[in-house]
Amino acid sequence: MSTSDRSRFQMIIGNTPVDAASGAWTTTMNPATGRPLAEVPDGGPEDVDRAVAAARSAFDGGKWARMGGARRTRLMFKLADLLWSAIDDLATLEAKDNGKAIQSVKAEIAQGIGELEFFAGAATKIQGRTNEAPFGFLNYTLREPLGVCALIVPWNYPLMLTLRKLAPALAAGNACVIKPASYTPLSALVLGELAVEAGFPEGAVNVVTGGGATVGAGLARHRGVDKVSFTGSTEVGRSILDAAKGDFRRVSLELGGKSPAIVFGDADLGAAVPATVWSIFYSAGQSCEARSRIFVQRPVYDAFVEAFAAATKRLVVGDPLDKATQVGALITPEHRAGVEGYIAAGQAEGARLLTGGGRPTDPALADGSFLLPTTLADCTNGMRVAQEEIFGPVACILPFDDDASAVAAANDSIYGLAASVWTRDIGRAHRTAAAIKSGIVTVNQPFTVFPGTPFGGYKQSGWGREVSLEALDDFTELKSVVVHTGTRPIDPFGLG
Ligand code: NAD
Repeated sequence: MSTSDRSRFQMIIGNTPVDAASGAWTTTMNPATGRPLAEVPDGGPEDVDRAVAAARSAFDGGKWARMGGARRTRLMFKLADLLWSAIDDLATLEAKDNGKAIQSVKAEIAQGIGELEFFAGAATKIQGRTNEAPFGFLNYTLREPLGVCALIVPWNYPLMLTLRKLAPALAAGNACVIKPASYTPLSALVLGELAVEAGFPEGAVNVVTGGGATVGAGLARHRGVDKVSFTGSTEVGRSILDAAKGDFRRVSLELGGKSPAIVFGDADLGAAVPATVWSIFYSAGQSCEARSRIFVQRPVYDAFVEAFAAATKRLVVGDPLDKATQVGALITPEHRAGVEGYIAAGQAEGARLLTGGGRPTDPALADGSFLLPTTLADCTNGMRVAQEEIFGPVACILPFDDDASAVAAANDSIYGLAASVWTRDIGRAHRTAAAIKSGIVTVNQPFTVFPGTPFGGYKQSGWGREVSLEALDDFTELKSVVVHTGTRPIDPFGLG
């Protein structure tokens, strides 16, 4: 049976498939059909303890702790090969579990495997430095793994974001406990199985499923956990900090966004329109870096809005498993209701509805959490729809007059994850990129990161950087070793 047809999955703890200690199970749903998809263990505190203990023993004294970088590289490439072989099946599984279009899912999994390969190569290149020191002394630094890392992942890019954390954590030599989102646990459980097949030693890669308030929070405050790497909402990110602060546990956070695209009057609209449509409606708008606020300079505003609406109406909303589908289902009916509430609030505040605003009429989609790509024009930056992360297929278009007002409005947000600039003027592109307060700025490009591109947020969008070599720093401690190399003994008190 292919993985995507299985109806029951187990957790992986110490390389062993296990049920929850309580024996409880939970059902994951298919957002596109509204029907049950598969059963997974409903893990609890005992399972968190078991997984952390397995990871601790791998790190504190097991084979993983003694393994050199080259061997870690080989294991990581082996895992990557297994993932490449399974990519079609994994994409089908993920599309069913998450509801997003299968072509998008496949590209995302490929991106995740690319990041695994990037960090596989990095495992042999972890370096310290020799510092200048006074005569008779040697000072060098070591980059050491942190220990046990809890990797807490959201539902919007399940496997890609799991790999985004796992890859640098393993490359640096940490043992890991993965906690997938409750809505989308399946691909992480298969990843755990593949890690066993690849030959990772017991306890190096563990996967525990269950609720955020139980398994997630349990990991965040667990004394056996040295670092929590969290991707999710800013609100839960704050609770992770609270849980970790007592022990000063290391924390990195990839959080929410309300990312702007700035389209200047001199931009190539033929490129900017389809790309800005893509960069909000990809993944049905459920992307942390979705360009959800689109600022357009007044001389081209009307032309842009008209072309944007026309392109949006051409998007194919439908069955996630159909290769022609561009916009799949939202994650749950409750989440869709929240997005619909924002659409109503935006209109009540004076935004002009240009596309969507409701559910598709196709009876084949009636049981899924589908919502039509929605365009709200004539927004102002103070509106709730322009300030709060909607995390759904809702584009807010806002007019602006000059460069300074565009940058000021773009920066007027609690978030600072990403931004795009559209212009033919190279100087303006660099000036604007420098002035925007966000972790990544794309120029004449919607949103893309490559393995090696630093990714992370300013302000309430997070702490730390992923995807790039900086992530290795976030998964290591820096140790400074000072050695006395002189011939005279050190005797500061003159007692010798
Ligand atoms: P969420 O914060 O609700 O959940 C994220 C993960 O945390 C899930 O695994 C969940 O089970 C767990 N969790 C929930 N409550 C917890 C608690 N009290 N303690 C510990 N763990 C807990 O987020 P979500 O709804 O799954 O994802 C959407 C959010 O993620 C959006 O805000 C989005 O912007 C953000 N996101 C950010 C990035 C980024 O790279 N910056 C990427 C993707 C998603």
